Amino acid sequence: MSGPKTHSWIKDLNVYSVGISKTVHAQNPIKLSANESPLGPSPMAMKAYKEAATNLHRYPDPTYNELRSTLALKYDIDPGRIVCGVGSDEILKLACRAYINPGDEVIYVSHSFSMYPIATKSVGGVPIEVADVNYTANVDNILNAITDKTRIIFLANPNNPTGTYIPISEVERLWKNVPNNILLVLDAAYAEFVEQDDYDAGIDLVERSTNILMTRTFSKLYGLAALRLGWGYACKEIADTLDKVRDPFNVPSSAQVAGVAALNDDQFEKKAIAFNNKWLKWLSSELSKLGLEAIPSVTNFILIKFKCDIKTACAANDYLLNHGYILRYYSGEDLDDCLRLTVGTEQQNQQVIALFKEFMEA
Ligand SMILES: *Cc1c(COP(=O)(O)O)cnc(C)c1O
Repeated sequence: MSGPKTHSWIKDLNVYSVGISKTVHAQNPIKLSANESPLGPSPMAMKAYKEAATNLHRYPDPTYNELRSTLALKYDIDPGRIVCGVGSDEILKLACRAYINPGDEVIYVSHSFSMYPIATKSVGGVPIEVADVNYTANVDNILNAITDKTRIIFLANPNNPTGTYIPISEVERLWKNVPNNILLVLDAAYAEFVEQDDYDAGIDLVERSTNILMTRTFSKLYGLAALRLGWGYACKEIADTLDKVRDPFNVPSSAQVAGVAALNDDQFEKKAIAFNNKWLKWLSSELSKLGLEAIPSVTNFILIKFKCDIKTACAANDYLLNHGYILRYYSGEDLDDCLRLTVGTEQQNQQVIALFKEFMEA
C-alpha cells in the first residue's frame, strides 16, 4: 500500500515512553512514578481554574500578559523576554524547530531527560549523547563532544531521572567555553526544590548571554501537570524567535490564570518545599539503611540503585506493583538496575519504605 511518505527521521522516531499508570493488581494504585506533587495543586490555582470556566468561549490572551508580568515581578526579570508553552516540553521543541536543520547535532548527557532525543529527532537533528560521571552531568565531556555541526546543548539541572545537579560555577564554565552560535538550554524543571547554596537556575547567566535559554515548569513544585504550562527565559532575539514558531494561542486561559494564582500562593510554595525537603531526606536515609543506593537528589524524586544480583530492580518493581505501588522502572534500558521513586504523601512514603523493607528482607 502506498500513501503519503513522511520524513525518514519521523519514521525512526520513538514516541515518549510515559511509564505505566495502572496495575492489574490494584484498583487504585499509588503512582509515585511521574514526579507529580504529593500535595496536589495550590488551592489558589484550583480556585482560579474553576473561575476560568465562565470564559471558555473566549480565545486565550495570545501574549499571556498577566502570567508574564507575574513571573517578571517574582523573579525580577524582563517580561518581554519570557516565552510560555504547553509544558516546558513545548519550549524544548520550539528551540529545536527554530534552530535545527536536518543533520545538525544536539548534545545532552546520558541518563537525562528522554524528551531531548525526541525533540531533536522530530526535526531531523542528530542526538549526541555524552557520558555522565556518577550519574551527574560532566562539563568536560559535553565540551569535548562539540563539533561544527553542534547547534543545541540540553542540560537538565537538576537532572531527571538521576536527581543530581552541577553547581552554577560549572554551568558558567560550560557556557564560557561553548561557541556563541550554539544554544545552551538550561532545563530547570526542578529548580524550585533545590536548597543548595551553590545551585542557581541560571537567570543571571541568561541576563549576561545571547545564547542561553532557561526553561521552567508548573508541573512539578506547583502541581499543575494536567494544565501543561511551562516557560522559558532568554535574550530578546531568542525569545522573539521562539515566539515566531509557536502557535498564537498555545497556552489555554485556564493554564494562564492558574499559573498566575500558583505564583502568588507563597504559602503553598513554602509548604511544598519544606515538605519535600523533609521527606526526601527521610526516604534517602531509610533506603540507605536497607542497603540500597539512593543517588543523592536535590529534587522531588530519588533514583534507587540495586547493588546485588539477588534483589534486583526488576523483582522489586514486581513486588511493589503487586502491592499497588507504581515506581518508574527502566525495563530494557541502561538504568534497568534502578527504580525512580517520587516523594509521596507521608502515608505513601512510610508504606513504600515498609514494602522495600519486606522485599529486601524476604
Ligand atoms: C518534567 C520535566 C520537564 C517538563 O515538564 P512539562 O510538564 O512539559 O513542563 C522538563 N524537563 C525535565 C527534566 C522534567 O523532568
